[in-house]
Order: sequence, then structure tokens, then C-alpha cells
Amino acid sequence: MSGRLHGTVALVTGASSGIGEATARGLAEEGAAVAVLARRRDRLEELAGTIRAGGGTALVVEADITDQQQAAAAVERVVTGLGRLDTVVNNAGVMLVGPVSDAPTEEWERMLAINVQAVLYVTKAALPHLRSAAEDSPRRVADLITISSTAGRVARGGNAVYSLTKFGVGAFSEALRQEVMQQHVRVSVVEPGTVDTELSTHVRDGLRESIARQVGSIERLRPEDIADAVTYIVTRDRRVAVNEILVRASEQT
Ligand code: NDP
Repeated sequence: MSGRLHGTVALVTGASSGIGEATARGLAEEGAAVAVLARRRDRLEELAGTIRAGGGTALVVEADITDQQQAAAAVERVVTGLGRLDTVVNNAGVMLVGPVSDAPTEEWERMLAINVQAVLYVTKAALPHLRSAAEDSPRRVADLITISSTAGRVARGGNAVYSLTKFGVGAFSEALRQEVMQQHVRVSVVEPGTVDTELSTHVRDGLRESIARQVGSIERLRPEDIADAVTYIVTRDRRVAVNEILVRASEQT
């Protein structure tokens, strides 16, 4: 398959639905071989099948990346299976919103585990490979992109812990950017507004209606709108580092 990312390998976490699935498709359309990671293997197999049918290369990696060993093993599986690693998209996440005083603390733990710790585990395991890719590849650049949120820029009541996780990955990304920029590993965050995915279906009963009320009748973004932002970042020449993209639905406050 030809394209601007021909010869590169990308890992997309949380590729079994929503933004991750669209991002994997988008990178594959640009010619990247794509490793698709999540826990739901059936969904990943289906996606990999579509990518292959379109002439692309896809590797299914079933893993729960809240477990450090699984996260590290998953990254190694990608490098063993596809030979290198040029792009990582830390996308897997959950949004379990609701007021602090009512929240089951188990929800906080789940958000911290997937939105923060898994990002750290995957990033740590991927960095040596991204450095090698930036050194050896014809493009001489590599990318680490984390999907944050508008909640990583603006904190609102009802979103306290979700916002904490997304502000956190923003801070982590900026510090890491400074550590690895000389090696041409570009570190970026993409901050989506309201996207039409499964994300809000995971909240507790009773809160779904309140989220629907918050979103109102605005036209939500599509997962492809965020995938486009990721593709834009990755396809820039090595002299260009797009470190942050905020994409709101156009009617969103
Ligand atoms: P989805 O619920 O559709 O996708 C979440 C993905 O994360 C799934 O593929 C899920 O796969 C994966 N995942 C969850 N837990 C784990 C785990 N322990 N190990 C591996 N994979 C896991 O939601 P979105 O596509 O909307 O969300 C993607 C990202 O975008 C998240 O980080 C979210 O915070 C962010 N975002 C979304 C917005 C929106 O409005 N939708 C707005 C702003 C940011 P599986 O269950 O198969 O493991």
C-alpha cells in the first residue's frame, strides 16, 4: 500500500471502537502497518480484516494495558510482529463522570488506571523503539500522541477525576516532549470535544441522561474528525512538531 506513512509501523491503543478504530483506519490508509490493541479481540479481528481487505497490514494485539507487564509485552509483540515502531497513539480511555461526593472510588481507580497509568506503561515500553525509528528510518522522526480531551484544558463540575487524568497526561506529555525532542521523537496531545462513540455508555445509570442533557442537541464530532488530527500530526515533515490540537464540535461551549 502506498501513502505518506508507507514503511512505518503504528500502534493504536483502544482500537476496538470509536476514535481508536477510526485512527487505525486513517493511519492504515496512509500506508502505515497498524497494530490494533484493546481487550475485545473480536472487534480487533474485524477491524484488522477490513484493513487487510483494503490492501493494508494489521496486527491484532489483545491486551489489558492497565497491567504493566501486559503493556510491555504488547509493545514487544508489535516490534516482533511488524519489525519496528514509528508511531504510538495512546488512545484507550474511560470517562466515568459524576460529582465527587457520590462517586464510587472504584470508578476513580479505573480512570487513573487506563487514562494515566496505561499511558505511562505503554510510553515507557515504546520509547526505546521510537528513538530507534527516529534514528534509522528514512523519515528520521517518530511520534507519540496521547488522546486527551477538552476536559484536559477546562475543568468542570461533575468531571473532576476525568479532568484530573486528562490534565495529567497533558503535563506528562509536555515534560516528556522536552526530554526527547532532540532525538526527533515528537510528543503531542489531541484534545477532542464531544465525539459520537461508546465512551458515555460506560457511566452509571442515571448519569447517562445528565450527560445527554449537557451535550444537548449539538451535532457531535465523528471519530474520523479526531483521526484526521492524528494523521495530520504524523504526516508532517520532521522539521515540524504539532504538539497540541484542540478539536471541538463547532457548536460546543
Ligand atoms: P470508546 O469507549 O469507544 O473507546 C475506548 C477504547 O479504550 C476501547 O477500544 C476500549 O477497548 C479501550 N480500552 C478501555 N480499557 C482498556 C484496557 N484496560 N486495555 C486496553 N484497552 C482498553 O471511547 P472513545 O473512542 O470516545 O475514547 C477514546 C479516547 O478519546 C479516550 O481516551 C477518551 O477519554 C478520549 N476522548 C473521547 C471523547 C468523546 O467525546 N468520545 C472526548 C474527549 C476525549 P476494550 O473495551 O475492547 O478494551
